[in-house]
Amino acid sequence: MWLAHLDRLPTRARTAIWGDQLLDKCCICNTYRETRDHLFLQCGFSEQIWLLVIKILGYNQFLFHTWYAFIDWLDLKDNVSSSTLRRLVAQATIYSIWWERNNRLHNSISMPATATFKKIDRLVWNAILARKERKKFRNLMLLWLK
Ligand SMILES: [Zn+2]
Repeated sequence: MWLAHLDRLPTRARTAIWGDQLLDKCCICNTYRETRDHLFLQCGFSEQIWLLVIKILGYNQFLFHTWYAFIDWLDLKDNVSSSTLRRLVAQATIYSIWWERNNRLHNSISMPATATFKKIDRLVWNAILARKERKKFRNLMLLWLK
């Protein structure tokens, strides 16, 4: 997440600068330049996942157009969702999209967005269970399950 925030992950838009400049298309959709914002927020695959994540957190449907809008949403204080849960889910989502991108690039194995969402669900579930004794995490399972 930190490397993504700093825009230091080796996305194709960045690696194309060092090597083959024609190899800059997104590993998931193979249509647009694979920038951080495209891969994690604007790619059709990522948008499907975000719509599921946003809905389960209790928000009306919307999508992020820029990384800065995404970070602003993480810092938002509202009554819709817990900021701890929102950040946990956001990190699991970024991690899972990057994992899917690498699985497609290195292993030529593709999973649908729904399978990636199930993986995010499991990551969030495990993270909450591992910290269930901490005050901030006590009620998160109920919020995530609702
Ligand atoms: Zn794409």
